[in-house]
Amino acid sequence: MEKTFRVCPRCGSNSIEEIFGSIMGQKYKCKDCSYEGPLIIEANKELVEEIKENYKKRKEG
Ligand SMILES: [Zn+2]
Repeated sequence: MEKTFRVCPRCGSNSIEEIFGSIMGQKYKCKDCSYEGPLIIEANKELVEEIKENYKKRKEG
C-alpha cells in the first residue's frame, strides 16, 4: 500500500498542529504558512510535491 501524508492543503507542509476545544470541532493549523481551518488533506508523495510546487509558484507570483 502506498504511503500517505497528512499535509496542509495550501502549502503541502506536514507541520500540522491539531487544535481542539473549538465549538466547530477539530481545527488544524499549519506552522509553515499559517493556514488555519478544518481541512487537511491526505496525499501521497507525488501529490505533496505538486502542492508544494504550486504554492511556490503562487508565492513567487
Ligand atoms: Zn501550510
